[in-house]
Amino acid sequence: MYNTIKKKELLIWYNLNINKRYMPWRSTNDPYKIWLSEIMLQQTQVKTVIPYYNKWIKKYPTLESVAKSNIDDLLKIWEGLGYYSRCRNFHKASIKIFKDYNGKIPEDFDQFKKLPGVGEYTAGAVLSIAYGKKIPAIDTNILRVMSRILGLKERSKSNLNKIKKNLIDYLSTEKPGDINQALMDLGSMICKNKDPYCQNCIFQDICKAWEVGDPEGFPAKNKKVAVKKILMSSGILVDDELILIAKKKNGIYREMWQFPSVSITSSTKDNLIKKKFKEEFGIKIKSMSLIGSFNHLLSHRNIYVKVFTLSARKTLIESKNLKWIKAKKLNLFPMPNLYKRVFEIFQNYKNGSK
Ligand code: SF4
Repeated sequence: MYNTIKKKELLIWYNLNINKRYMPWRSTNDPYKIWLSEIMLQQTQVKTVIPYYNKWIKKYPTLESVAKSNIDDLLKIWEGLGYYSRCRNFHKASIKIFKDYNGKIPEDFDQFKKLPGVGEYTAGAVLSIAYGKKIPAIDTNILRVMSRILGLKERSKSNLNKIKKNLIDYLSTEKPGDINQALMDLGSMICKNKDPYCQNCIFQDICKAWEVGDPEGFPAKNKKVAVKKILMSSGILVDDELILIAKKKNGIYREMWQFPSVSITSSTKDNLIKKKFKEEFGIKIKSMSLIGSFNHLLSHRNIYVKVFTLSARKTLIESKNLKWIKAKKLNLFPMPNLYKRVFEIFQNYKNGSK
């Protein structure tokens, strides 16, 4: 009964506030576009995603255009958005949909969730918004709102199940996607992590966290994930006007072009670095000199990069994963921001040493 009243109030609130958070994917029912937006939004803010989403949709208006594209072109558009495995998985999933589902994004939760890069949240969000399925999409906003309303402190499986059960009740409307989105918006605009606007909240009269006077105490804070420190050496090898770029098969930047780089420790000697360059890229280094270093921060990683210029004993032959290119053509290749900084250091060094 309470839920029925609250559901109506929530939808009224949502429709009144819908224009306050502009998101281009909110004006479509196309499952492909909604899915793309959900993937881009993982760990990334709305305002960052919007230009990437618009650029992507302009170039790839359909899922078929994604499936037919090559990964280099897709990564080039994704460049700078980070978490590149999202892009690689989206590409793999698009190919699978044409192979296994005749090009139609599955409406079945279990089938959709089996696609590369699709988790429970993404499946719930896409299927509820695009296909009107009554499936919860519990992101951090909804988790916070529901934990507070229900007074659930512990982040446990049984509490998550209580939230899901409660949400199923809320979702029994004609537009379950609107309920999911309304709760996400409420979490982002009203029931914020810090200083929630309880006095403006439609749930205040039933909210357990408000009743006990401690909204921010629900749910209990997540343990902080330790930032991993990584050290690497990145080498710039030039031959006349050409510069060497490489692709790695593993690591967070796999499939993207980068300058040959190897992981090191604080005590790795130059001889070992040279050996690693030979083993990983086949570069027989004659000499190397340090031209700069910087820290590159990612959400859970702090990467310390030492930048070297390299000179090789003999010219390296191109292969599938090694290319000699003109420096001015670098921007045609998908390259993570970290390596753009490496190149900046190289350019500054070159300009300074002229
Ligand atoms: S009353 Fe406060 S704590 Fe409860 S749901 Fe609303 S904003 Fe969140």
